[in-house]
Amino acid sequence: MGILADAPPVDDELIYARHLNGFALYSMRSPTRSRNYIQCKPNENLDEWSDDRIWSELALRLGPEHAADLVTGPVVEKSVAPMRSFIAEPMHYGRLFLAGDAAHIVPPTGAKGLILAVSDVFYLCEDLNSFYKTGSQSQLDG
Ligand SMILES: Cc1cc2nc3c(=O)[nH]c(=O)nc-3n(C[C@H](O)[C@H](O)[C@H](O)COP(=O)(O)OP(=O)(O)OC[C@H]3O[C@@H](n4cnc5c(N)ncnc54)[C@H](O)[C@@H]3O)c2cc1C
Repeated sequence: MGILADAPPVDDELIYARHLNGFALYSMRSPTRSRNYIQCKPNENLDEWSDDRIWSELALRLGPEHAADLVTGPVVEKSVAPMRSFIAEPMHYGRLFLAGDAAHIVPPTGAKGLILAVSDVFYLCEDLNSFYKTGSQSQLDG
């Protein structure tokens, strides 16, 4: 379950926690917003997760050291995000090129899918430039 909350981060660093109840991740979005994850069932009923329940479960999984500093606030968004990884190989078929999530999906807890998507577009641009300048397909194939 991904949770966006109007609450300042508890730490400058990401906190990954392993607990008998499941995984948890605490991360920052801005000085006033945190983005958190609580491992749950894929078909979890979010109506059963009040803000209070979310914060107490997060505190439990993060452990007493971080729970003590936890500043709670209104949850502004919550959703169940499927944890899956996928890589298409090859990332092109003829003149069709895949970029971003169409080519590879990483679990949102890695917080890098968007960065990878932008990186794909950067390299694809360079390769398309090379193709149109030289007529050679080799960089695109690579
Ligand atoms: C809960 C969650 C948290 C995340 N957190 C982070 C994070 O912290 N940092 C990070 O770097 N990444 C994060 N990501 C991943 C990031 O959002 C994606 O990797 C990124 O958005 C991929 O960009 P994209 O352009 O490839 O695909 P998308 O952003 O999915 O864009 C595809 C677009 O195509 C549109 N589309 C689909 N089908 C059609 C159609 N037939 N015709 C026209 N349009 C269509 C869709 O509506 C969509 O707008 C997170 C993802 C999730 C789910």
